[in-house]
Amino acid sequence: MRILIVDDSSVMRKIVTRGLRQAGFAIDEILEAGDGQQGLEVLSNQTVDLILSDWNMPNMDGLTFVREARKTIQTPIVMVTTEGGEGKVNEAIASGANGHIKKPFTPDTLKDTLGKYFA
Ligand SMILES: [Mg+2]
Repeated sequence: MRILIVDDSSVMRKIVTRGLRQAGFAIDEILEAGDGQQGLEVLSNQTVDLILSDWNMPNMDGLTFVREARKTIQTPIVMVTTEGGEGKVNEAIASGANGHIKKPFTPDTLKDTLGKYFA
């Protein structure tokens, strides 16, 4: 499994990485991007199996990132964000996101929400 984590906070990227490992997922490689634009750049020359994306980021936010990524790839994208309102989540799903994890999260939450992508 190769995973792309898109988040403007390097601390949050570390927390997500640690959470994935604590959840016990077998991960071959984790790629990181600091905003949606950087995320698209990574995806233009790398193939990943799962994308975890923040919502609020400079340059290109997570919702725009999902919409742009969906023009070319079908890789599962799960939003990891403080934007937990139902309307927001529905907007993300309608734009092509596959799921949603609310910050702060526990390894168990990651396990429950992301387990199907590691099957
Ligand atoms: Mg952010």
